[in-house]
Amino acid sequence: MMFDFLRTLMNKSSKRNTDGKKKIAPRTTEKGLHEEQFVRFESLIVMDKTPPNDLVEEGKFIVVIYKEKHHWALFRCPCGCGHVISLSLQKIHRPNWSAKKSKNGRPTLYPSVWQNQGCLSHFWIEDGVVFWCRSTGKSPNSSDYY
Ligand SMILES: [Zn+2]
Repeated sequence: MMFDFLRTLMNKSSKRNTDGKKKIAPRTTEKGLHEEQFVRFESLIVMDKTPPNDLVEEGKFIVVIYKEKHHWALFRCPCGCGHVISLSLQKIHRPNWSAKKSKNGRPTLYPSVWQNQGCLSHFWIEDGVVFWCRSTGKSPNSSDYY
């Protein structure tokens, strides 16, 4: 998982190929931000060590907390591409995210996730609901997002 993260970092810091397939995630509208009408992540599951990817099932949002420290958030990309997204929750890492449990026990993830490869999904999660950004399907490279 650490390796995955480093690879992600390396990908972020290097020029990526821009001739990749542009796949638009479902349920994205031209109006921009689009809230799905259903809860995709029913619960936030806490683990004390990083699970292998095949244990990260669709709709599961896993937070790895070890020695009271938030380490990672893992979940399958909500576009359905099957990619396991692993995000650092450690402040010493750049970038890092915050994953909190809502009062309904569902995950809230901040800031947004923008996949720089594959489906190029751009979204965030609030109370288990996925919010899609208009830039989904575009490469983060092609904007001034960073
Ligand atoms: Zn995806």
